Amino acid sequence: MTRWVWEGLKSGIRTTRYPAATERAAGVSPGRPRARAGLEARLRAAETGCPTGAIAPAEEGSRVDYRRCIHCFRCLPESPEAAVAWEEGYEWAGVPEEAEAARELGCLFRRSLNIRFVDAGACGACMGEVRQIDNPYYNMHRLGFFLTPTPRNADVLLVAGPVTEAMRQALRETFEAMPPPKRVVAMGVCALSGGVFGPSAAAAGGVADVVPVDVTIPGCPPPPLAILHGLLVAVQRKPPAPLASVPESSVP
Ligand code: SF4
Ligand code: SF4
Repeated sequence: MTRWVWEGLKSGIRTTRYPAATERAAGVSPGRPRARAGLEARLRAAETGCPTGAIAPAEEGSRVDYRRCIHCFRCLPESPEAAVAWEEGYEWAGVPEEAEAARELGCLFRRSLNIRFVDAGACGACMGEVRQIDNPYYNMHRLGFFLTPTPRNADVLLVAGPVTEAMRQALRETFEAMPPPKRVVAMGVCALSGGVFGPSAAAAGGVADVVPVDVTIPGCPPPPLAILHGLLVAVQRKPPAPLASVPESSVP
């Protein structure tokens, strides 16, 4: 016992300081692409090479739709003149237009927040990231966030996966069992647009096809800090991010 107290004192606090401070430790985020203005020929090539159509033409250059980007890294730039820039960061969660009107409800969740997580057909990687937010490094409890096994106690429904046919009714019933006011946070590209699985005969085109979504967290999978950002957006402790990139100058 004495030894472990001593070891703890020696190592100090290792928990991330996010959201009080920006987290800059290596490996906390894979980053994501952002289309540049100009470089038209290279942008067209990047659009063609994107397997999910996430890079599409925009008024000035191209835009990247983060609801479709599966982080395949095919457009990862290898030169300063590449068609897309690769940005670091992890504050990726946004609010869909249709949920904007209801956002003021967030002030009701200023204290502790109970979260019911539902795997609606996820591949496993999204669940792996959800497990991380509970560990000592990310430690969501310091923010007042707790996982709950029952929808009756839940304020937020956190959903990953495209919603397979087998999970459609279960997800709807879970949502209906939650007392109002409640929030739905969809995480991962599958939950946002169906990703590589849907819409299809076996899966819906995302959580919004089944229950109303308030906050969306892009990524495949989203890293733990992006999930924490999504939960902070749900309670209005952080502003949302855009769900598509704005073309930036081609000057490196
Ligand atoms: S990383 Fe995203 S935007 Fe780039 S090619 Fe892959 S899916 Fe498309
Ligand atoms: S978003 Fe990516 S990591 Fe998450 S369930 Fe879909 S394929 Fe898996």
